[in-house]
Amino acid sequence: MSTEFTNPNLEIMFTAEEISARIKELGAQITAEYKDKDLVLVGVLKGSVLFMADLMREIDLNLKIDFMAVSSYKDGTVSSGDVEILKDLTNPIRGKDVIIVEDIVDTGLTLFRLTEILGSRGANSLKIATLLDKPEPRIKKDLKIDYKGFTIPNRFVVGYGLDAAGRWRNLPFIGVVIDPSKI
Ligand code: 5GP
Repeated sequence: MSTEFTNPNLEIMFTAEEISARIKELGAQITAEYKDKDLVLVGVLKGSVLFMADLMREIDLNLKIDFMAVSSYKDGTVSSGDVEILKDLTNPIRGKDVIIVEDIVDTGLTLFRLTEILGSRGANSLKIATLLDKPEPRIKKDLKIDYKGFTIPNRFVVGYGLDAAGRWRNLPFIGVVIDPSKI
């Protein structure tokens, strides 16, 4: 029987176990580096929700979380280059040590703009954590990614928070769409 979890149009790139093991390492690294800091994780909706939920449980610190929603990809696979704030943070980040938590960095336009926006709000420090880094299509080549799960080739991936036209975010693994015309 074929379910969405065994969809023949998807090829697994990272299993749930591989993702979990890598996030444990990232969490340990962040725990060590933010011991005496006032850490706020800022998740970028919606793609980061699974990564955010798993990463924060691997960080053994008294942290806070907040979320932003921005538009970048509009129901398609091509970056618009335009970043619009759809939902802003609930609390000020002045004096805080902020890590932006993102699902994937592709062109880098979204995070470049987000770091500009959040960078102007008086945070004590601002870093970037992304589960996936897709460096090939990068336009903002000097964007510094401080914590990354995996570097991937220039393929369109779904699952573990990442969608194709709103679907497949709930897949527990990261998969590559074999035939995008059959999404
Ligand atoms: P960037 O601004 O770096 O080009 O794109 C960042 C956003 O584009 C990500 O947060 C994600 O929503 C979307 N994106 C980029 N590459 C992919 C991909 O391979 N799969 C999916 N599902 N979304 C992607």
